[in-house]
Amino acid sequence: MTRTPLATTLDAYEVWFVTGSQNLYGEETLRQVAEQSQAVADGLGGLPVKVVWKPVLKDSDSIRRLALEVNGRDDVIGVIAWMHTFSPAKMWIAGLDALQKPLLHLHTQANVELPWADIDFDFMNLNQAAHGDREFGYIQTRLGVARKTVVGHVSNPAVLQQVEDWQRAAAGWAASRSLKLARFGDNMRYVAVTEGDKTEAELRFGVQVNTWGVNELVAAVDQVTDADVDALVEVYLAEYDVAAELLPGADRHQNLRDGAAIELGLRSFLEEGGFGAFTTSFEDLGTLKQLPGLAVQRLMAEGYGFGAEGDWKTAILVRVANVMGAGLPGGASLMEDYTYDLVPGAERILGAHMLEVSPSLTSAKPRLEVHALGIGGKDDPVRLVFTADAGPALVVAMSDMRDRFRLVANVVQNVDAPDLPKLPVGRAVWEPAPDFATSAACWLAAGAAHHTVMTTAVGIDVFRDFAEIAKTELVVIDEDTTVRGFQRELRWNQAYYRLAQGL
Ligand code: MN
Repeated sequence: MTRTPLATTLDAYEVWFVTGSQNLYGEETLRQVAEQSQAVADGLGGLPVKVVWKPVLKDSDSIRRLALEVNGRDDVIGVIAWMHTFSPAKMWIAGLDALQKPLLHLHTQANVELPWADIDFDFMNLNQAAHGDREFGYIQTRLGVARKTVVGHVSNPAVLQQVEDWQRAAAGWAASRSLKLARFGDNMRYVAVTEGDKTEAELRFGVQVNTWGVNELVAAVDQVTDADVDALVEVYLAEYDVAAELLPGADRHQNLRDGAAIELGLRSFLEEGGFGAFTTSFEDLGTLKQLPGLAVQRLMAEGYGFGAEGDWKTAILVRVANVMGAGLPGGASLMEDYTYDLVPGAERILGAHMLEVSPSLTSAKPRLEVHALGIGGKDDPVRLVFTADAGPALVVAMSDMRDRFRLVANVVQNVDAPDLPKLPVGRAVWEPAPDFATSAACWLAAGAAHHTVMTTAVGIDVFRDFAEIAKTELVVIDEDTTVRGFQRELRWNQAYYRLAQGL
């Protein structure tokens, strides 16, 4: 079997920079349009996804052909468009209608300052994005094209940041469109929010969600050799602060070896199937010796998506967040709102899971420990124990609202946790915006899940761009949120998203 290690990087991707014009301007002006648009594209050269300049588009046939070429190229994840001059927008109808990739409309111009004393009508003729882009905005809106509009000069860091956010969202979208997700077992019995329409998910997000019997995973674990386990144990010893009882020769070393075998078997299964995300279920472990803890934690930190208790929707979000945050400090993990500190004015949320929180949330060296786990009826599982770094974070949940998927995001601040000497799992402690009571009331009103992806690598702007690209509802709880306003937004969205899909 061929094994394909999972790539979680933006390096293989590019976005194309296209400039609209028309033949009416004559050769000399069009030469300057080409030259200046190359300079604008170069101004985007430092962004994480490579920007490739394309020759100026001047008629509807070349625009349509470019869109078809973009659609056919897996490595081209989006298009940035700018109308340096006036590009009559009926020329864009066929191309925009054909384009199936994310679009960013960059409303910019070649120069920052106007050379007032030298402006003649040739200058006006060349530098007319102010109305060329308005014509382009009209046709995009008339066609209902989902896009991001960024306004300003490429020398402005705020403009670059907005383009970078969109690039990251487009990469998340590309990853989602090609994602294969393996479920081991079904959802936890009787749970509502982890259910959902897997067929609709493939249509909306492109994710293939399918289930394998846990015995197939057990078979992969059984194939693992002692030598491979020895080598992985060495990696654990180098990367973590390993509890004495787990060390080679100590009484519980076998638990560590069993955990390593689960990691190796799981990894080979995922690589052979080309999977980028997976779920497990503590109710369906077959003859696995432990609930996968350490293995899941390490795979999430490498970029895999994961959801516990069969929660494939959260697994999608973890994978997408991992790709969108590629190369940035921090990471993405399954998280679960667990328990509250309700001291008035200083409320905090303690989030964790049975085992499966990604160590990418910490910059400290995690402890590798073994403890009993009452649930699941298996051997004591090995797991990494740590607290997420303090700093800005975001939690995002996905619910199936029957006629659509709803994303709910809360902007939060991870804070230093008090010592938790008796809590043997990875965890995070956070203060939600705008305040605890508003956050929780809005979260409940939205029907948002107890499972989330927590990301400390990307912020809400990237998720907003992702939702726009995915044409998926996103409601955000942040510093501007009020319960009344949020409830109104939910009601309006209920109507809007039904109408937008067609009746
Ligand atoms: Mn859970």
